[in-house]
Amino acid sequence: MIKQIVFSIALLITLGIFAYSIQRYFKYFKFTRKKSLGSIGKRLWKTLDVAGFQVKIFRRPLIGLVHALVFWGFMIILFGSIEMVVDGLFRTEKVFSVLGGVYTFLMAFGDVFALIILVAMIIFLTRRLILHVKRFSGVEMKPVSEYDAVLALTIIFVLMVSLLGMNTFYLKWAALTGAVVEGAYPVSHYLMSWFPHMTANEAWTLYQVNWWTHILLIFIFANILPYSKHFHVFMSVPNVFVSKVDPLGYVENMESITKEVKLMLDPNATFEEAPAEGAPERFGALDVEDLNWVNYFNSLACTECGRCTSVCPANITGKLLSPRKVMMDTRARMKEKGPGLVKEGKGFDDGKHLVMDYLTEEELWACTMCNACAQECPININQPSIILEARRYLVMEQSKAPAELNTMFANIENNGAPWQYSQQDRMLWAEGLEVPLMANKFANNEKPEYLVWVGSAGAIDDRYKKVMREFVKILNHLKVDYAVLGTEESDSGDVARRTGNEMLFQMQALTNIEILNGYEVKKIITCDPHDFNTLKNEYGDLGGNYEVKHHTQFLQDAIAEGKLSLDSDKFAGKKITYHDPCYLGRGNGEYDAPRTILKAIPSVKVEMEKNRSFAMCCGAGGGQMFKEAEKGEKEVFIERTEQALETGASIICTACPFCMTMMTDGIKYKNKEEEVKNYDIAELVSISLGL
Ligand code: SF4
Ligand code: SF4
Repeated sequence: MIKQIVFSIALLITLGIFAYSIQRYFKYFKFTRKKSLGSIGKRLWKTLDVAGFQVKIFRRPLIGLVHALVFWGFMIILFGSIEMVVDGLFRTEKVFSVLGGVYTFLMAFGDVFALIILVAMIIFLTRRLILHVKRFSGVEMKPVSEYDAVLALTIIFVLMVSLLGMNTFYLKWAALTGAVVEGAYPVSHYLMSWFPHMTANEAWTLYQVNWWTHILLIFIFANILPYSKHFHVFMSVPNVFVSKVDPLGYVENMESITKEVKLMLDPNATFEEAPAEGAPERFGALDVEDLNWVNYFNSLACTECGRCTSVCPANITGKLLSPRKVMMDTRARMKEKGPGLVKEGKGFDDGKHLVMDYLTEEELWACTMCNACAQECPININQPSIILEARRYLVMEQSKAPAELNTMFANIENNGAPWQYSQQDRMLWAEGLEVPLMANKFANNEKPEYLVWVGSAGAIDDRYKKVMREFVKILNHLKVDYAVLGTEESDSGDVARRTGNEMLFQMQALTNIEILNGYEVKKIITCDPHDFNTLKNEYGDLGGNYEVKHHTQFLQDAIAEGKLSLDSDKFAGKKITYHDPCYLGRGNGEYDAPRTILKAIPSVKVEMEKNRSFAMCCGAGGGQMFKEAEKGEKEVFIERTEQALETGASIICTACPFCMTMMTDGIKYKNKEEEVKNYDIAELVSISLGL
């Protein structure tokens, strides 16, 4: 009876403190922006995949396996912990044993997992305290983070010791008294043999000591967690559920801007008045309450593991940016400002802000929007979305973009391209080639099957103009029914969007969509992965719905259909390495199409160490192509070129105009122009075909 009373009081205190701690965090959610979750089915599947099967943690197979075993082990041990609570409350003993075989099975696995988790804790502590694994350090990692981690790991270690102790002495007591053993405990059965001279009374006492140690430690741990980075124990699975389910390259539309842009483009346009509640007070995010609730949720779930920062090209090359810091700053800022918001409401101002006081402009502008961080995060946190919101604020509210970006914006506004180049010259790249224009086709009542989207780089950049020429030669060779927009095409707006100028993006997008829809375009092919992503994933939000293919996908299909035979000996014996463009690979999951094409070209293929979803960005995305890099130890393009050169390849193959510029610059920087060439995949195909 005393046990029951003491247990009930301990449980009540635990639940009370826990509820108090949780509500402190959760009452801040109402100050964040709204965001709808959309398809629940997709989310359940993602949760099963990422949380249940732990697929992302296995990106680092060895340590990933250890983490996954800990997660799965906790899930099973949780069953036993719930049983302990029921036993404690109702004076029962192993109450779930009524489940028979299932109970035996779960107890046996729980016993084995207790040992596995115990060993895992020793490994984790060794990595932190002795091996000093690099990703556990960084400017944002204060000593308190280390203490926090060590304390949590030690508590889990003791929890597992007490669990095994509990099982061992229970078995010992049963063996000495002849009591029926409920469940099976293979590890503890072995451990029991360590205590040959123990009496039944001693065994029962030690069983009770371990029982109480275990359950009270769970209660204490549960109340430490909300104040620790290990809060992710509670938050990680729900975080996966609310996380991004769209392709990583997709950026959500800003409805508030759409309304403004539509009014600018058509002053007679009318809109249904949006309800005032939930309407954004400013464009982008200056402070933490300007972020949406998922951003804040993400920050609470972040475990500070540093996987994101360890793959960030900006951080790798010595820039200030660390995606982990973005999440930690968001959480810290809400912790700082939250109480004031609760007290004084949304207008509360403490003179500080997330942007500028926590996240500096230097950090924010160093991001290449490559999404490597989001790809790497084991619980699907999306760090770039916070960086983008901050950029939106800097650009649209403060006009505080770096000077080169302002020039780029002005060029897009005036010329429809990020460079100073007249829109009327957008067909010069095709001089001497037969490239049909959509306007002419339409005038003849023809509707070509494909619209080939040339993109600003394809029309203007000297190197990429050559790629476009080779690609249309292939199309002509295949007798594809296509046309281009010519001088009617304008920049897709991708770079404007990713540098925070949503207004400019939407103006470009809506203008282009009007033209594309006017020509009743259904299918688009483009060589530019950035435009591919924008046209495929983002134009739909503004009324432009098309079937969009990247040129590598189109060429892959042509090979599969037997229309392209690439078995010439033009590249026989040459070593080719392929650099995955972020917006084709990570952004849209296309890794196979380029490799299938390369496979069809007789040559020697070598992969860089970082390839497919692990590929490092070339350094051009997120507007970096148009501005000086932030200071660091190295430029990203040099790092990536060095990785390509390490393969010993004589050809670095790309499938993106930005990557091409960066790789070409990298090869020049390394003085390797004689030995190493840079080709787009379309050029390799065209040369193989002898066009
Ligand atoms: S998107 Fe790329 S550059 Fe930006 S923070 Fe993430 S990993 Fe770093
Ligand atoms: S954002 Fe994700 S990957 Fe980065 S530190 Fe947090 S949990 Fe780890």
